[in-house]
Amino acid sequence: MAHTLPTLPYGHDALEPHIDTLTMQIHHGKHHQAYVDNLNKALAGTEGENKSLEELMASISAYPPAVRNNGGGHYNHSLFWSVLTPGGSPLNGDLEAAINEIFGSLDGLKEKMNTAGTTRFGSGWAWLSVSEGKLVVSSTPNQDNPLMDIAEVKGTPILGIDVWEHAYYLKYQNKRPDYMVAIWNVVNWAEVAKRYQAAL
Ligand code: MN
Repeated sequence: MAHTLPTLPYGHDALEPHIDTLTMQIHHGKHHQAYVDNLNKALAGTEGENKSLEELMASISAYPPAVRNNGGGHYNHSLFWSVLTPGGSPLNGDLEAAINEIFGSLDGLKEKMNTAGTTRFGSGWAWLSVSEGKLVVSSTPNQDNPLMDIAEVKGTPILGIDVWEHAYYLKYQNKRPDYMVAIWNVVNWAEVAKRYQAAL
Protein backbone atom coordinates (compact mmCIF):
# COMPACT_ATOMS: atom_id res chain seq x y z
CA MET A 1 0.00 0.00 0.00
CA ALA A 2 1.75 3.12 -1.20
CA HIS A 3 2.10 6.13 1.07
CA THR A 4 0.55 9.35 -0.20
CA LEU A 5 1.00 13.07 0.45
CA PRO A 6 -1.77 14.32 2.77
CA THR A 7 -3.69 17.34 1.54
CA LEU A 8 -2.79 20.53 3.38
CA PRO A 9 -5.83 21.33 5.59
CA TYR A 10 -5.53 25.09 4.75
CA GLY A 11 -4.19 27.24 1.93
CA HIS A 12 -0.47 27.77 1.33
CA ASP A 13 -0.94 31.42 2.29
CA ALA A 14 -3.05 30.73 5.39
CA LEU A 15 -0.21 30.88 7.93
CA GLU A 16 1.03 34.30 6.76
CA PRO A 17 2.76 36.36 8.00
CA HIS A 18 4.32 33.83 10.39
CA ILE A 19 5.06 31.23 7.73
CA ASP A 20 5.25 32.61 4.19
CA THR A 21 3.41 31.24 1.17
CA LEU A 22 6.44 30.24 -0.91
CA THR A 23 7.94 28.32 2.01
CA MET A 24 4.66 26.41 2.45
CA GLN A 25 4.42 25.62 -1.27
CA ILE A 26 7.95 24.24 -1.43
CA HIS A 27 7.84 22.59 1.99
CA HIS A 28 4.60 20.67 1.41
CA GLY A 29 4.64 20.25 -2.35
CA LYS A 30 8.33 19.49 -2.89
CA HIS A 31 10.02 18.41 0.36
CA HIS A 32 7.18 16.37 1.84
CA GLN A 33 6.29 14.92 -1.58
CA ALA A 34 9.93 13.79 -1.98
CA TYR A 35 9.86 12.01 1.40
CA VAL A 36 6.70 10.17 0.33
CA ASP A 37 8.11 9.21 -3.08
CA ASN A 38 11.46 8.09 -1.70
CA LEU A 39 9.79 6.11 1.11
CA ASN A 40 7.68 4.23 -1.43
CA LYS A 41 10.79 3.54 -3.50
CA ALA A 42 12.74 2.31 -0.48
CA LEU A 43 9.91 -0.02 0.62
CA ALA A 44 8.98 -1.41 -2.81
CA GLY A 45 9.06 -5.21 -2.79
CA THR A 46 10.03 -5.46 0.91
CA GLU A 47 8.02 -6.64 3.93
CA GLY A 48 7.91 -3.03 5.13
CA GLU A 49 5.53 -2.26 2.29
CA ASN A 50 2.59 -3.57 4.32
CA LYS A 51 3.49 -1.86 7.58
CA SER A 52 1.90 1.31 8.89
CA LEU A 53 4.13 4.33 9.42
CA GLU A 54 3.83 3.85 13.20
CA GLU A 55 4.91 0.21 12.88
CA LEU A 56 7.90 1.23 10.79
CA MET A 57 8.92 3.86 13.37
CA ALA A 58 8.72 1.34 16.24
CA SER A 59 11.30 -0.97 14.64
CA ILE A 60 13.16 1.55 12.49
CA SER A 61 16.58 0.19 13.53
CA ALA A 62 15.80 -2.92 11.43
CA TYR A 63 15.40 -0.86 8.22
CA PRO A 64 17.88 0.87 5.90
CA PRO A 65 18.64 4.60 6.30
CA ALA A 66 16.35 5.48 3.36
CA VAL A 67 13.34 4.19 5.31
CA ARG A 68 14.44 5.96 8.49
CA ASN A 69 15.00 9.29 6.73
CA ASN A 70 12.00 9.28 4.39
CA GLY A 71 9.61 7.40 6.67
CA GLY A 72 10.49 9.83 9.46
CA GLY A 73 10.13 12.71 7.02
CA HIS A 74 6.66 11.54 5.99
CA TYR A 75 5.47 10.93 9.56
CA ASN A 76 6.92 14.18 10.92
CA HIS A 77 5.53 16.45 8.21
CA SER A 78 2.08 14.82 8.32
CA LEU A 79 1.98 15.61 12.03
CA PHE A 80 3.43 19.10 11.49
CA TRP A 81 0.71 20.28 9.05
CA SER A 82 -1.99 19.02 11.41
CA VAL A 83 -0.72 20.89 14.47
CA LEU A 84 -0.71 24.24 12.67
CA THR A 85 -3.78 26.31 11.81
CA PRO A 86 -4.41 29.87 10.63
CA GLY A 87 -4.41 32.21 13.64
CA GLY A 88 -3.81 29.32 16.06
CA SER A 89 -6.43 27.79 18.33
CA PRO A 90 -6.78 28.27 22.11
CA LEU A 91 -5.14 26.00 24.67
CA ASN A 92 -7.49 24.76 27.38
CA GLY A 93 -8.74 21.73 29.32
CA ASP A 94 -6.61 18.77 30.47
CA LEU A 95 -3.67 19.64 28.21
CA GLU A 96 -3.44 23.18 29.60
CA ALA A 97 -3.54 21.77 33.15
CA ALA A 98 -0.80 19.26 32.33
CA ILE A 99 1.39 21.95 30.71
CA ASN A 100 0.96 24.19 33.76
CA GLU A 101 1.84 21.32 36.07
CA ILE A 102 5.00 20.23 34.23
CA PHE A 103 6.31 23.51 32.76
CA GLY A 104 4.76 26.11 35.10
CA SER A 105 2.91 27.83 32.25
CA LEU A 106 2.51 27.87 28.49
CA ASP A 107 5.42 30.32 28.36
CA GLY A 108 7.51 27.80 30.29
CA LEU A 109 6.75 25.17 27.67
CA LYS A 110 7.52 27.57 24.81
CA GLU A 111 10.87 28.43 26.35
CA LYS A 112 11.77 24.76 26.72
CA MET A 113 10.69 23.92 23.16
CA ASN A 114 12.49 26.95 21.73
CA THR A 115 15.69 26.00 23.54
CA ALA A 116 15.37 22.43 22.26
CA GLY A 117 14.88 23.72 18.71
CA THR A 118 17.52 26.42 18.67
CA THR A 119 20.22 24.25 20.25
CA ARG A 120 19.64 21.34 17.86
CA PHE A 121 22.75 21.58 15.65
CA GLY A 122 22.00 21.31 11.94
CA SER A 123 18.64 19.88 10.89
CA GLY A 124 16.03 18.34 13.16
CA TRP A 125 12.87 18.72 15.18
CA ALA A 126 11.70 19.95 18.59
CA TRP A 127 9.03 17.76 20.19
CA LEU A 128 6.39 17.75 22.88
CA SER A 129 5.57 14.11 23.60
CA VAL A 130 3.71 11.94 26.06
CA SER A 131 5.99 9.43 27.74
CA GLU A 132 4.52 7.11 30.38
CA GLY A 133 1.62 9.50 30.87
CA LYS A 134 3.84 12.58 31.30
CA LEU A 135 4.62 15.49 28.98
CA VAL A 136 8.24 15.68 27.89
CA VAL A 137 10.21 18.03 25.60
CA SER A 138 13.04 16.74 23.42
CA SER A 139 14.71 17.23 20.07
CA THR A 140 15.86 14.81 17.39
CA PRO A 141 18.35 15.09 14.51
CA ASN A 142 17.38 14.92 10.82
CA GLN A 143 13.97 13.22 10.37
CA ASP A 144 14.13 11.08 13.51
CA ASN A 145 11.22 11.26 15.98
CA PRO A 146 10.30 10.04 19.47
CA LEU A 147 8.38 7.03 18.08
CA MET A 148 11.60 5.52 16.73
CA ASP A 149 13.22 2.70 18.67
CA ILE A 150 16.54 4.52 18.30
CA ALA A 151 15.27 7.80 19.84
CA GLU A 152 17.12 9.09 22.90
CA VAL A 153 13.81 10.27 24.41
CA LYS A 154 10.94 8.00 23.43
CA GLY A 155 7.25 8.84 23.56
CA THR A 156 4.19 9.66 21.50
CA PRO A 157 4.75 13.03 19.82
CA ILE A 158 1.78 15.43 20.08
CA LEU A 159 3.50 18.60 18.80
CA GLY A 160 6.52 18.84 16.52
CA ILE A 161 8.33 21.91 15.25
CA ASP A 162 10.44 21.51 12.13
CA VAL A 163 13.77 23.32 12.58
CA TRP A 164 15.29 22.39 9.22
CA GLU A 165 16.40 25.51 7.33
CA HIS A 166 13.86 24.66 4.59
CA ALA A 167 11.11 25.38 7.14
CA TYR A 168 12.08 29.03 7.65
CA TYR A 169 15.07 30.20 5.60
CA LEU A 170 13.23 32.21 2.90
CA LYS A 171 11.62 34.48 5.49
CA TYR A 172 13.88 34.24 8.54
CA GLN A 173 17.26 33.38 6.93
CA ASN A 174 19.71 32.47 9.72
CA LYS A 175 17.35 33.64 12.49
CA ARG A 176 15.97 30.30 13.66
CA PRO A 177 15.01 31.77 17.08
CA ASP A 178 12.72 34.33 15.38
CA TYR A 179 10.93 31.54 13.51
CA MET A 180 10.62 29.56 16.77
CA VAL A 181 8.92 32.57 18.40
CA ALA A 182 6.58 33.25 15.45
CA ILE A 183 5.33 29.71 14.98
CA TRP A 184 3.47 29.75 18.33
CA ASN A 185 0.98 32.14 16.69
CA VAL A 186 -0.28 29.34 14.45
CA VAL A 187 -0.27 26.28 16.75
CA ASN A 188 -3.46 24.24 16.56
CA TRP A 189 -3.90 23.46 20.27
CA ALA A 190 -7.21 21.70 19.61
CA GLU A 191 -5.35 19.11 17.51
CA VAL A 192 -2.49 18.85 20.03
CA ALA A 193 -5.08 18.26 22.80
CA LYS A 194 -6.73 15.53 20.72
CA ARG A 195 -3.38 13.82 20.27
CA TYR A 196 -2.69 14.25 24.00
CA GLN A 197 -5.90 12.43 24.97
CA ALA A 198 -5.21 9.67 22.46
CA ALA A 199 -1.65 9.20 23.78
CA LEU A 200 -2.69 8.87 27.44
MN1 MN B 1 10.49 20.05 6.77
